[in-house]
Amino acid sequence: GEYSHRATMRGSDELAQLATEFNSLTGRLQATEESRRRFVSDASHELKTPLSSIRLLTDSILQTESMDDATVREFVSDIGEEAERLTRITEKLLRLTRLDDKTETEAAEVHLREVLEKAIHMLTPLAASSGVALIGNLEGRGTVKATEDELYQVAFNLIENGIKYNVPGGYVRIGLKNDGQDTVLLVEDSGIGIPEEDMPRIFERFYRVDKARSRMAGGTGLGLSIVKDTVERYRGTVKAEPREEGGTRFVVRFPGEGGSRT
Ligand code: ADP
Repeated sequence: GEYSHRATMRGSDELAQLATEFNSLTGRLQATEESRRRFVSDASHELKTPLSSIRLLTDSILQTESMDDATVREFVSDIGEEAERLTRITEKLLRLTRLDDKTETEAAEVHLREVLEKAIHMLTPLAASSGVALIGNLEGRGTVKATEDELYQVAFNLIENGIKYNVPGGYVRIGLKNDGQDTVLLVEDSGIGIPEEDMPRIFERFYRVDKARSRMAGGTGLGLSIVKDTVERYRGTVKAEPREEGGTRFVVRFPGEGGSRT
């Protein structure tokens, strides 16, 4: 709906201040509503694409008389792939909405090094089959008061992207270091890089530089927005930058004790 009630000044300073606060609040509500609406519309669009593929494939199986077995199997396997894609999208959407709700979860001091080791371990098969080397450089220490599952997802998404948007013979280097009070996680790759004009938008929901490549790699365009939401929820920051030698570097920084960020 529209938030059309605007409070106006009534003379006294106190009232004027209340009016200002009220107007700023309605402004924020409007922005939230607008962003929710866009989210729902983007999400529906993303879900519609695999659904219409499934429709097309089933229609052609049902409408083609005496389709040969090999073709039927091929179409059914395509349907299975689209269904998997729907699963991936919905899982990520659920994760994002949980982030939005900011439900209090069981946060504990999580050791980043352990989380990184686990993500590297889980992604080793994908790296091997892609011909990409994973190089761990985890000499830093540091804990973040968070849930392990969420931090794992951050590490996993960044490293997985480094592999997906890479070339055979390339590498992904994962670093953990301490910078003053801060704990810094680095994920650098020798991959295809991100064009400068796309850089500001890669953390947006559903944003993809190359839709075809992302799709082929099983992407949803949600990975980096999950990374950003999660990191910021734990008072951290994340940024991406091009590397001089080619590829991309992601830097995640969590403030340490007393480290504050506004
Ligand atoms: P996706 O599911 O498509 O990988 P992400 O939100 O994880 O979605 O990333 C958004 C887009 O940013 C990707 O589609 C890709 O175009 C680009 N991108 C992300 N990480 C990298 C990287 N390490 N190298 C090059 N491009 C990347």
